[in-house]
Amino acid sequence: MKTFLQRLAAHRPPAGKRRWVFVPYDQLTDRVGPLSRIAPRELGIVIVESSQKAGRRPNPKHTLAFVLANLRHFCLEQAARGVAVRHVETDADYATALRDVARDVGPVLCMRPAERELREDLVPLVRDGLIEEVEHEGWLTKRSHFDESHEGGAPYRMDRFYRHVRKATGVLMEKGKFAGGKLSFDAENRKRWKGDPAAPRVPTFARDEVTDEVVQLVQHKFADHPGTIDLEHLPATQAHADAMWAWAKRECLPHFGPYQDAMSTESESLFHSRLSPLLNVLRVLPKNVVDDACAMEMPIASKEGFVRQVLGWREYVRHVHEATDGFRAVTKGRDAHDAATPSFLGAKRALPPAWWGQATGMRCLDACVSQVWKTGYGHHISRLMVLANLATLLDVSPRELTDWFWCAYADAYDWVVEPNVLGMGTFAVGDLMTTKPYVAGAAYIDGMSDFCKGCAFDPKKDCPVRSLYWAWMDRYEERLRDNPRMSIPLQALKKRAAAQRAEDADVFARVTDALARGAVVAGAG
Ligand SMILES: Cc1cc2nc3c(=O)[nH]c(=O)nc-3n(C[C@H](O)[C@H](O)[C@H](O)COP(=O)(O)OP(=O)(O)OC[C@H]3O[C@@H](n4cnc5c(N)ncnc54)[C@H](O)[C@@H]3O)c2cc1C
Ligand code: SF4
Repeated sequence: MKTFLQRLAAHRPPAGKRRWVFVPYDQLTDRVGPLSRIAPRELGIVIVESSQKAGRRPNPKHTLAFVLANLRHFCLEQAARGVAVRHVETDADYATALRDVARDVGPVLCMRPAERELREDLVPLVRDGLIEEVEHEGWLTKRSHFDESHEGGAPYRMDRFYRHVRKATGVLMEKGKFAGGKLSFDAENRKRWKGDPAAPRVPTFARDEVTDEVVQLVQHKFADHPGTIDLEHLPATQAHADAMWAWAKRECLPHFGPYQDAMSTESESLFHSRLSPLLNVLRVLPKNVVDDACAMEMPIASKEGFVRQVLGWREYVRHVHEATDGFRAVTKGRDAHDAATPSFLGAKRALPPAWWGQATGMRCLDACVSQVWKTGYGHHISRLMVLANLATLLDVSPRELTDWFWCAYADAYDWVVEPNVLGMGTFAVGDLMTTKPYVAGAAYIDGMSDFCKGCAFDPKKDCPVRSLYWAWMDRYEERLRDNPRMSIPLQALKKRAAAQRAEDADVFARVTDALARGAVVAGAG
């Protein structure tokens, strides 16, 4: 703390009356909101480092280091432009810390927090007039866009929302028509990656004393949290974040579309931007990335594919989360901490130790798990079609899986992780926000990745994922019968001989048993 505090103290903002703004850990920008409008000499910011928040779940060390390093560099960046910075370090919650500050400086402004969890923490202060909440200007769309696209309410559909906002915002529209002649180029974005074009090298960043100090703090104070800190790949300043986006534009976006669904042991991100941790703390602004992507010379399938992620999926999941109060409004189940616990299929098995790093011999699972514990990153398909898919096929409790994703990934916040895992990855809320469950067998994983090549199992013969998939179809045949998008796989299930179906059920029993014990799957040794 010494270096950081000394550097902060070295900036002596001129005395005078200031408007104080609370800047939460995920609003680290002066490019939108009150910080973009109030003159630095009239502005003061309150930054809270709460070890209670950091200890709320066992977030890996690199995630804690990422957030803290950005928070502290943001303080210094603001102080350097003449903003008064009140940095509060506390073991208490945000409300307690901010109540003390407000007593001193008067009511503080705050952009409405993106996280439900923080909004809830701040309710008493908003009620008492100590926090004046203003609109969060980091989003690209408003609640009215979502409501207009779903006039009849649920079920919610991303394509309806996306179609509406493309028209309403004019993004990728030409003379009132969708650029390239259609809304989505998703069908063209499913190529397997065979090494050409070469995957870009992920950028590295120079460390400084402030970041080093954060690393020491995390190593010491959160020693029992999992993972390590990959300092080389940790963007900590605004300049790092800008460099990361420049890299993504140059190296990733031109090939983003075709290889969007591909996975490889040679590159964990391939042509994905790796921007989500930075976007989710506003170091990189969604508006800038969409504007820049639209202005770039690149194939429409890549351009639209990228825009769909940021303007479409990212905004959609956040609206679904808010419209359903984090699914509490639409499901009855809640756990002791008031978290929503939907499970449309009734899955409730414990998450096997494999997700915490115990080897299974299933290369797809082991590779994706080891990658996320190393870096806190994994792209969409490894999350959806490996980690969530396998947990679903194994009947893991959707809530437990969500809490794992929330802990393991560096970009996880309630508004984004809950819809993606409960809504999309596990079908825990039925067809509330997707039309079908995202489950797949070994043929999909083999088709989109190189995992199977070095695996102890053969995807066409003895791979357990094949049987797990059919056993899952068998168990939930009744429950899924009315879903029109499941009719093809359910027809295929009917063609499976009784002996094969019995064998599938047997594999399910053996694999769940082995994984629950933390053992490798028989046949992998
Ligand atoms: C089971 C599961 C859990 C997920 N958990 C999270 C999470 O905790 N935090 C998170 O930010 N994303 C989450 N996602 C969405 C998505 O996988 C990540 O945003 C993406 O992989 C981040 O990598 P990237 O920055 O390289 O993305 P790119 O592929 O380069 O996409 C660009 C940006 O689009 C946005 N985006 C794309 N898809 C989604 C989506 N479904 N929801 C929200 N934003 C999206 C992200 O901001 C991303 O940075 C999850 C997806 C699944 C299936
Ligand atoms: S063979 Fe089966 S278990 Fe092995 S990597 Fe492929 S899908 Fe996964």
